[in-house]
Amino acid sequence: MSELDLIDHVRSFNAGLGPRIVLPPGDDLGGLRVDESSVLLSGVDQVIGGVHLPVDADPERYARKSLRRSLSDVAAMAAVPLGAVVTVALPAGTPDDWGRRFAEALNEDSRRWETPVFGGDVAGYATTDPPPLVTVTVFAEGDPAAEGRYLTRDGARPGDLVWVSGVLGGSLEKDGGGHHEAFEPRLELARTLHRTLGPDLHCLIDLSDGLVRDAAHLAEASGVRMNLELERLPCRPGATAREALTDGEDYELCFTTGAGVALPDTLAGVPLTRIGTVEAGDSISVTEGGRTVPLPSGGWEHLT
Ligand SMILES: [Mg+2]
Repeated sequence: MSELDLIDHVRSFNAGLGPRIVLPPGDDLGGLRVDESSVLLSGVDQVIGGVHLPVDADPERYARKSLRRSLSDVAAMAAVPLGAVVTVALPAGTPDDWGRRFAEALNEDSRRWETPVFGGDVAGYATTDPPPLVTVTVFAEGDPAAEGRYLTRDGARPGDLVWVSGVLGGSLEKDGGGHHEAFEPRLELARTLHRTLGPDLHCLIDLSDGLVRDAAHLAEASGVRMNLELERLPCRPGATAREALTDGEDYELCFTTGAGVALPDTLAGVPLTRIGTVEAGDSISVTEGGRTVPLPSGGWEHLT
């Protein structure tokens, strides 16, 4: 079963989750109604040695990447992080100072992003074979400065403009290969966009699986077609437009705004680029010089 098939299967249970679940599986975070005025947003993510990082990566790298990936999902809803709980499973024979170094790096990052780690669990495998596994469960709330609102994936409308932050492609290989683990979650940018644009900001997602696949998530959730213009894509130095379309782990934001919205070239210190438009229909199209080009396959597939 592919990852997408599995997600579809899980989502088949959504209708039965009950009235407390205001955001079932299908967005960057889930939403649980706490009382009449508040919703708790939460999501969990894994970093697996050998998949998301080299197995023998330093503990500091595991700490950074695991927390920042979760915070990128908070940014993807223009939400505000409240805290996180973390689990670590380590192979037998892991050096004694691994956990201490991990905890110190995690503490440093959690302070920087104002996301206190307030619980967790540490376990050891019985054997030396399994890779380190870190999970981060993050909790967040809608932005108090925006009346507690948060952004979902389903607000794109025909006529919208499609935008991305930063540069895309080559996250794993280019610029020393550091971006996919040392990126800065776009929390401030997302909140600034939300506060500045208000209802003109229609939907938002973070780019973890590759632009084509993540934009397709927006298109599917919103019931629209997204047209991406190849020549507009902001490519990381050394990356091609095709890599910008399909490489994963950019951890930038993709969002749509109303048709008349103009944005500055940079906001909160991050470049912004308009890359396409929203049309009636479904799925994704990619054009170059106004002509449709074949849709590249690719993007991250987490399970095969
Ligand atoms: Mg996400």
